Amino acid sequence: MDRSVSPFDLTGRRAVVTGANTGLGQAIAVALGAAGADVVGVGRSAMDETADLVRATGAAFSAVAADLSSVEPIARVVAEAGEGGRIDILVNNAGIIRRADAIDFTEKDWDDVMNVNLKSSFFLTQQVAKGMLADGKGGKVINIASLLSFQGGIRIPSYTASKSGLAGLTRLLACEWAGRGINVNAIAPGYFVTNNTQALREDEARNAAILSRIPAGKWGDPSDLGGAAVFLASKAADYVHGIVLPVDGGWLAR
Ligand code: NAP
Repeated sequence: MDRSVSPFDLTGRRAVVTGANTGLGQAIAVALGAAGADVVGVGRSAMDETADLVRATGAAFSAVAADLSSVEPIARVVAEAGEGGRIDILVNNAGIIRRADAIDFTEKDWDDVMNVNLKSSFFLTQQVAKGMLADGKGGKVINIASLLSFQGGIRIPSYTASKSGLAGLTRLLACEWAGRGINVNAIAPGYFVTNNTQALREDEARNAAILSRIPAGKWGDPSDLGGAAVFLASKAADYVHGIVLPVDGGWLAR
């Protein structure tokens, strides 16, 4: 089939994915590569496994080393990631979670989570958007939100605040930039098998409670998420702005 006629074809686009070394970020990087994009992974850990998986799709992969717990590396990240071309797609995926009862929650667990999940995502987006706006060609921004963008959760106050904030920012940025060619949207993954959810899966009671509420009857596999990212990164989503797309096995439908 001639892929170039597909509205999902990403050939010739450069996609930057934060936290691409593992989990959902890795799966998104692979899916974007399989759809034709050149992929740049940004993160603090080695990207060798992701590099192999993305290159196996036939796509180019490069890595930019950066710790996104502060905004300090952002200008460098964007300069290095965009070297030799523009950034067409940004996926803000890097994120952390800290668990403790709200009554005991520490300022450090608040700040650490907010810094990676919300503050760095915003300022990275701002820096990338400058390039997207400067040449008038626009682009796609995809934030990785959460079911905690819609629900309260328990024992994860900074995570819920950050992901609810990210959903709000997705809408704000869509309103500011929709008329200038940038699509800002989010994906809300349900419960996926990654490092982020290891503690939940190891807690027998919580694991059973979660599974019993998922209509699909199983945890998500990271590969279940890639297609949503390809859609939002592609021409098929040119008129889609400010949505938070659940990919959750039906959780929110309950
Ligand atoms: P994960 O396996 O823990 O991956 C998190 C990624 O973020 C890793 O690549 C991690 O790098 C990176 N990261 C964390 N802190 C960073 C920092 N300071 N600088 C640079 N990179 C950093 O978890 P995941 O489930 O794939 O999570 C990916 C995203 O999906 C997160 O935003 C998470 O909140 C969201 N999410 C996950 C689920 C789920 O069920 N798994 C559900 C809803 C939303 P290291 O490997 O170096 O730590």
